[in-house]
Order: sequence, then structure tokens, then C-alpha cells
Amino acid sequence: MTSLNPRQREAVLYADGPLLVLAGAGSGKTSVITRKIAWLIQERGVPARRIAAVTFTNKAAREMKERVQNLVQGGQSRGLIVSTFHNLGLRILKSELKACGLRSGFSILDQTDSREILKEILLQGESERDLNAVEAVHKCLSDWKNELVSPEEAVSQAQTEEEVRAAMAYSGYNRMLRACNAVDFDDLIMMPVQLFREQPRILEKWRHRLQYLLVDEYQDTNGAQYELVRMLTLPEGRFTVVGDDDQSIYAWRGARPENLDQLQQDWPALKVVKLEQNYRSTGRILKAANTVIANNPHVFEKSLWSDYGYGEPVRVAALRDEDGETDWIAGDLFHRRLQRGLHWKDFAILYRGNFQSRILEMKLQSLSIPYKVSGGTSFFSRSEIKDLMCYLRLLVNPDDDNAFLRIINTPRREVGPATLEKLAAWAGKRDQGLYHVCADLGLSEAMPAKAAEKLREFKQWLDSKREHCFRHNSLQAVKELITEMDYEGWVMQNASSPRIGEKRIENVWQLVRNIERMLEKQEEEDDGSSDLEAVIGKLVLMDMLEQQDEEDDSDRVQLMTLHASKGLEFPHVYMMGVEEELLPHRASIEDDNIVEERRLMYVGITRARETLTLTQARTRKQYGEKVDTTPSRFIDELPQDDLEYIGEGAPRNEERDSEMAEASLANLKALLE
Ligand code: ATP
Ligand code: MG
Repeated sequence: MTSLNPRQREAVLYADGPLLVLAGAGSGKTSVITRKIAWLIQERGVPARRIAAVTFTNKAAREMKERVQNLVQGGQSRGLIVSTFHNLGLRILKSELKACGLRSGFSILDQTDSREILKEILLQGESERDLNAVEAVHKCLSDWKNELVSPEEAVSQAQTEEEVRAAMAYSGYNRMLRACNAVDFDDLIMMPVQLFREQPRILEKWRHRLQYLLVDEYQDTNGAQYELVRMLTLPEGRFTVVGDDDQSIYAWRGARPENLDQLQQDWPALKVVKLEQNYRSTGRILKAANTVIANNPHVFEKSLWSDYGYGEPVRVAALRDEDGETDWIAGDLFHRRLQRGLHWKDFAILYRGNFQSRILEMKLQSLSIPYKVSGGTSFFSRSEIKDLMCYLRLLVNPDDDNAFLRIINTPRREVGPATLEKLAAWAGKRDQGLYHVCADLGLSEAMPAKAAEKLREFKQWLDSKREHCFRHNSLQAVKELITEMDYEGWVMQNASSPRIGEKRIENVWQLVRNIERMLEKQEEEDDGSSDLEAVIGKLVLMDMLEQQDEEDDSDRVQLMTLHASKGLEFPHVYMMGVEEELLPHRASIEDDNIVEERRLMYVGITRARETLTLTQARTRKQYGEKVDTTPSRFIDELPQDDLEYIGEGAPRNEERDSEMAEASLANLKALLE
């Protein structure tokens, strides 16, 4: 407790009513949460299993759990719930299956699966010409669920043509999900709230179960999440939420920074603590952040200071083109690491869009600089991983028609579309799932005997795996599943090159290793649900929230989008592509929504502890053509006295730019030799 400042201590020690900690970046908000959990357990004697902390990503949850474990005496944190909102929702649904109309082993559909279902409903066999419309409807449904709007309400509220279309599809879509014993991502929050509204006794049970609730990154909660917290903590308001309105960067996904404001109205007894000392960054970095964000309108006034010294100027480097930009970053980073005796993991390179990482990755690879991309192209969106996940989903939930359709012919089993249509008609008449009816005796009347035989064989085989999985050894069963269907052979046959095939096979076994690790952990946690079932639920969620994010503390440069960097900190930060149309993003300029982009800039700047470097490519290829870029308006908004311009100021000089890039590479090579 001694290392906390007085305001932080006040926030930690206040547990008698609702508390909001509203403070800027790096002021110790997350630290307050971990300290408070430790204090509640050790000093207040609240059992760990009665405390739930909610964070934004699985990675953050993992870190928080570790920090608490380090703070409390051995074993005292057992049972503590630290999870994302969606994982908390999942936990509630799993314990209240019946009341929610679900059966055990229910599937959580990802975006692609939900879209497939919607496509079915909207297009009803028409060609796939109107995929944009499907996407728009999907967005509408998601927005409604995030705001707890029911299908009936949606129908009465809908105004635009799109909304009317979406509202019409909404209840059919929900019915379809329930028929497959499935929920979508947004249901994980909406369904618990509905359940609590309809069944006060169940709500009461959960209120009793969770005696204290803590929420990090509160500015990015949506309407449904707000309501979930409110219901669980009524009437006393035993919660601590921490947030920073200037770091709200998920409005496009339904987050409502107004929730901070709303909180004061809903909880008149709300205590607000503001933290002002930043313990992360040097004075210059902080000044840069404060100056930029001052251009946004503010509901809450905050000020932030640091006594970590003034520090080095913020560097702004303008390079010839995207090649020059990544060359320069790689060279500069390499140089600094040696010069200052740093580790690779002390560096982070942040960018606005995932596509920016590709060229950077190639550059780093060519220089043998180890790196790790977080939240990049999803591990789980790779076709081999989706295949295997669908097998696993079908193992735990035989009603999962989507999973069935994906894998019935992967690897090829010669089950054609005509057979599948007949199967669907058969299943529809009996009101059963596709997989269920595969072994029906009468099926051979509805289709050629050979086709029926293939389906039966498939079901018998997978049933035997299921049996093995739940009776004996899940991991063993998963491994057998992969080898018995000769998935490797199938991948190699279909890969465009042997190298790509091998990589894909490697990914499959990587997933198996992850499952193994998670199964081991599951044994420690033991929350009652079947092991494989729980692990698959977690994997699907991991996919949707942050994609691949293995527990990996090896020494690597960290690459990630600005969005993914929220809450994290690094000694040395590079921000790439600080240009108009990238940051701020073109779509935001067109929508006149610069404020959210400015917050993104603020998030990026405040990740840095010691040095910050912004880079810009003067030209960039767009549709195969070189286009001149303009430096981001946010660079103009920075305190100019604290900047050091590199490669700019003088009129454009391509020769000099390429000389610079070459010099840094030459430098690098010399160092390597
Ligand atoms: P963000 O808004 O980016 O999420 P935050 O407000 O959650 O930031 P933390 O991540 O909790 O801030 O803390 C920032 C850094 O300051 C961490 O390295 C943390 O260990 C350190 N820190 C927090 N409080 C103190 C303190 N009282 N004394 C020294 N260091 C502290
Ligand atoms: Mg934080």
C-alpha cells in the first residue's frame, strides 16, 4: 500500500459504495484494480470467488490474474474471476442453461458463421449478389443486441429500408440460432441481461455470488454491458469502474463513452476519484499527448503530469515511401537496441491498420529481427484452424449445423450439394439437426443408398471420437481425429506449395498444443463444465476478441494495431504511417469523426515510456500507383518545440531519403559483422 499515492490509496480503500476512477493514461487505473482486489481479499476478507474483475482482452485478464497472485499470499486468489465481459456472460449462460433455453455444449458462433445464417435467411437461395446488404443487416443486428433492443422493439423502431429489412430478419435469425443450440457473440451479454430481467430469483443468486465487481477500460463498454454491471451491483453499488474518456476508441463497435456520464445520474452516491500523476512516460511524451487531446471537446477536465524527467524529443521521421519507412524503422530499432543495450521486447511498432504490418514483417524477417504480431490476421480465420474448430464444435454440440456443413466435405467425402439438400429437408421435417439424422434408417429412401451410407459412416466415426473424448482422453481423441481422417494428406494435396502446406499443418498442431495447455489449466480451475467443452468455448472467444494471442514472453519486437495496444506500455514506441487518410483514417475524415481518431492518436502516444518516434511515408502505393501523402494533422497539433524532425524540413530530396535508408542499413550490416 505504501507505494500508492494518496488518491490511488483512497480509490483502493473505498469499498462502501459505487466508485468511478476517471483518469488519464498511465495514471495507475489498472494498478488500482489489482491492488484493490488484493486488499478486498486480504484486508476485507472477501472470498476471492466472490470477486469478479472485467477487462477488455484475454491477455489483460491473464496479466491481471498474475499480478493479483503476486500480491496475495499463496492460494488466496483461488476462484477469483478475472475475465472479459463476454467470458463473464458465457459463465452465466453456462450455469443457467435451462433458463436460457440452451443445452449443454452450445456453440458460440463467430462473425462468419452468423453471417452465413443471415445470408440464408435474407437471400433464401438467391445468388450471393447482395453480400453488402447482408453485412449491413448484420451490423444492425449487432448494434441492437449491444443496446438490448429486442426483435419486437426493432420492428417498431426501424426507419430506414435497411433497418426494416434487418428487423424482419432479427427474430428468424435468433430462432435459427436456438435451433442449432448456438449463440452469437453479442448474445453473450444480451442473454444474461434478459435472463436477469425475467427471472429475479436468478439475478438474486448472482448478486449474492458476486459481492464485488471491478471493471477496467470502462469507457469502452456498450449499453448491454452497462446494464449487466448495473443489475449485478444493485442496490448498494458494490463496484469500482476505471476509465478514461479520452481513450474511448471502440464507438464503431457499439461502445458508449457516455456511460461514464450516465453513471453519475444512475448512482447519485457515486464517488469519483481522479488521478493525475502519470507513472509511465517522460514529460515530453506526456506533453505531446496532452497537447493533442486538448483539441477534443471535454466533458471531464483532467490534467496529467509526470516526474520522470523531461526526456528526449519526440522524433518525427518522413521517409521516401513505405519501403523507406520500414527500412528506416528496422535500421533505427536495430541500432538503438545495440547502442543502448536494450531487448527486442522493449520496442513496439504500432499502426492504424493490419495491412501495414505485412511489409514491415518482411523487412524484419530479412534482418532476422524477432517479432510478434498481436491481433493480426487471425490465427483462427485460417482455413485449417476453422476446419479443426468446426470438428471440435460438432464434437461438443451435435446440433451445430454450421459446423457440420463446413466439415462434412473436408476432407472430401463425396457428399454433394444434392445429398445435403435432401438431408436438410429430411432433418427439417423431423425438426432435428443435420448431424443427428445422418444415421437415420429411412434416409436411404430419401437419397441414393450410397450417399446415405457415406453419411452414416461419417456419423459413426465421429460418434466414436465423441465417446472417446468424453469417456477417456479428450486430447488423445482430438489427435486421433486429425490422423484418422488424414487431414495432413488433404492439406498437402490442396496447398498451393509444399511450404504453405507444411505451415498449415504446423498451425493445426499448434492449436492442438494450445488445447493441451488449456486442458491442463482447466483441471486447475475446475469450474465444473466438461473440459473440452470449456476449452472450446474459450478458444472461440479468444478468436473473436483478440485473435491469436499466445502466452509468449520471449524477447521479440511487438507489432500491433493502435486499437490492440490499449492498456499496454513499452519503453520505446514507433508509430507508423502518421499521415492524413491513415491516421486520421479516410473513412473518419469523410464522416467528420476526427475526435475518435484523435483519441486513437492519444492512446498510441501514451503507450511510450521513454521514447516515441512517429514515421510517415511521403509517397505510398495505392492501387499500384504512387500517391503523395500529407503528414497527419495530428503532427501539427503536437508541441513543435518538443519535436525533432528527421528527413524533413528541407524540400523533398529522394536521393537523400534513399541515402538515409541505405546508411541505416549499412550501419546495421556493419554492426552485424
Ligand atoms: P492506461 O490508461 O494506459 O490503461 P493505467 O491508468 O491503467 O493506464 P497502469 O497501467 O495501471 O495505468 O500504470 C501505468 C504504470 O505506472 C505501470 O507501469 C504501473 O506499474 C505504474 N504505477 C502505477 N501506480 C504507481 C505508483 N503509485 N508508483 C509507481 N508506479 C506506479
Ligand atoms: Mg489500464
